[in-house]
Amino acid sequence: MHFEALKQRVYHANMTLPALDLVIFTWGNVSEVDREAGVFAIKPSGVAYDELRAEDIVVVSLETGETVEGTLNPSSDTATHRYLYRAFPDLGGIVHTHSPWAVSWAQACRALPAYGTTHADYFYGEVPCTRKLSDAEMAEAYEMNTGKVIVETFQAQAKDPMAVPAVLVAGHGPFAWGKSGENAVHNAKVLEECCKMASQAEIINPRVEPIEQGLLDKHYMRKHGPDAYYGQKKE
Ligand SMILES: [Zn+2]
Repeated sequence: MHFEALKQRVYHANMTLPALDLVIFTWGNVSEVDREAGVFAIKPSGVAYDELRAEDIVVVSLETGETVEGTLNPSSDTATHRYLYRAFPDLGGIVHTHSPWAVSWAQACRALPAYGTTHADYFYGEVPCTRKLSDAEMAEAYEMNTGKVIVETFQAQAKDPMAVPAVLVAGHGPFAWGKSGENAVHNAKVLEECCKMASQAEIINPRVEPIEQGLLDKHYMRKHGPDAYYGQKKE
């Protein structure tokens, strides 16, 4: 029982998904990492949210992918989470959902342009969409290859995963991340709202353009830049 607090946090972050209308049935999972202990905790596979209990959360080794604590199988997406934690050392929590607006963009195989300041407050530029996986990548180690293609996308576009804490996986759906599981869920909800608003903006004006770099900089930097001044001063 080493990881009680971590499991409690991951349980609560998972339960936020149905509360925020980001999942139905079992269509999502949240994890959070403990870098010092070399483990992350994640939702068990196939357990419905109304039956999920904190003690069901599974603790997995970051190095081997083996279960360290827990009796249930970890989420089928565990290998994707593990690959992302290992490739992006600043990630504290990861969430995957099939929330409908973000999935719509992923299915359309389109990156999400920064059409407004809601987007710019959280994502410094376009949220990228990955390429599709090859047949070979799907046939073997599919979940790990999903992580790989996400990392490949960020590297190819020289994007900082902490400045753009989400991705759309082509033909599949969104992954979002953050400093903790709870923060990752927050970013997943913002992504869902931004995808919805972008879809509507394109209906209202099919020639809508991304906001100017100056407005993107202003909104992102006042919340996240070195001289951030949004909100209340932290002691
Ligand atoms: Zn999925």
